[in-house]
Amino acid sequence: MATNAELFERASRSIPGGVNSPVRAFRSVGGTPRFIARAVGPYVWDAEGKRYIDYVGSWGPAILGHAHPDVVRAVQEAAVHGLSFGAPTEAEIELAELLIQRLPSMEQVRLVSSGTEATMTAIRLARGATGRKKIIKFEGCYHGHADSLLVKAGSGLLTFGNPTSAGVPAEFVEHTLVLDYNDLDGVGAAFEEYGEDIACIIVEPVAGNMNLVKPRAGFLEGLRELCTRHGALLIFDEVMTGFRVGPQGVQGLTGIKPDLTTLAKVIGGGMPVGAFGGSADVMRHIAPLGGVYQAGTLSGNPVAVAAGLATMRLIAAPGFYEHLTAQTRKLAEGLQSRARAAGLAFSADAIGGMFGMYFSAHVPASLAEVSAADVNAFKHFFHAMLDRGVHFAPSAFEAGFVSATHDDAVIEETLDAAEAVFKDMK
Ligand code: PLP
Repeated sequence: MATNAELFERASRSIPGGVNSPVRAFRSVGGTPRFIARAVGPYVWDAEGKRYIDYVGSWGPAILGHAHPDVVRAVQEAAVHGLSFGAPTEAEIELAELLIQRLPSMEQVRLVSSGTEATMTAIRLARGATGRKKIIKFEGCYHGHADSLLVKAGSGLLTFGNPTSAGVPAEFVEHTLVLDYNDLDGVGAAFEEYGEDIACIIVEPVAGNMNLVKPRAGFLEGLRELCTRHGALLIFDEVMTGFRVGPQGVQGLTGIKPDLTTLAKVIGGGMPVGAFGGSADVMRHIAPLGGVYQAGTLSGNPVAVAAGLATMRLIAAPGFYEHLTAQTRKLAEGLQSRARAAGLAFSADAIGGMFGMYFSAHVPASLAEVSAADVNAFKHFFHAMLDRGVHFAPSAFEAGFVSATHDDAVIEETLDAAEAVFKDMK
């Protein structure tokens, strides 16, 4: 049996950094990534046969726990009938209808294969529909790896951003304004200066890519109001929060209606499905109806759609989100109380099936506050928990995910391990 270290060494010879998505490489925490051999419910097993309680959940999709039998069966049944046709299917209509039914802000939806495709196209659509160039995003929000979205804030307020990736020419991000999350005044000032040119705001309505950061009271309402007043479109990037924080995403929790919504993760049940949707009036700009181009060889793939449909049906069960929310809260509150009992500066927060852990005395409300937390304490905690069989995201800047299969015994086992680790850390 190959060890994780042997597999990592072998992987690094054929795959850059040994991984197919950078955060998997453990760069920010150090050490050897675990190579996963199988997963069931709340557990994953690595190549060495060690079991972990998993709070990565494939970075969000695994809301039902891993390998839910109904989802696996749906995939098997779909696969028998063919893997991909490049022609429309009835199942795609069913998934589109379900999404529209659940999210009233969407009258029409287009299926794609990833969150990146969804956000990239939503931006293009917003520009095409408004005839404007500039977009607003917030530092610390991640919207996938399209060029114009790989930007960090410029040096002063209301400067355009700098590319965060080599290979992105500065000209490609010259129309991307990067502002501070939860700073409505900054957004107001941007509209004062560039209002007529701003096509859209894209925002994670609860941010999950700078650890977990919730919107301050009035922030999302303010974005809605400013967009409406200035004729810009509001894009809620609910790739992570969609069907994760509640049955209708953040828009359901807040009652705020975005013009466009992007989705992925949960709606594919672990298979590659993304989506973007909005009013019919906006969506008519997409090809073949309108001039905004978007396409995909595997868009609406029948096997992926089968997994998504099975997942969407199961999460509609009565009480599903009440249970998920209660389990996630138990975890967050349990971690915080045990850490503080051990004398550590630690906070935790949760919403629906998503949680954040911060080695700081308060729950952060901005990227600056998240960045000020004790990263070394996180690294120590992460590795000590991994040793004890608990798999958290390998970065202090990622949210965690609980599934419906994280029952009381699983949460207790996690908290017992954390208690021992916290005591050691003091
Ligand atoms: N938007 C958000 C909020 C995300 O969290 C992610 C991925 O984590 C993306 C977009 C990109 O999605 P994908 O990795 O499926 O391309």
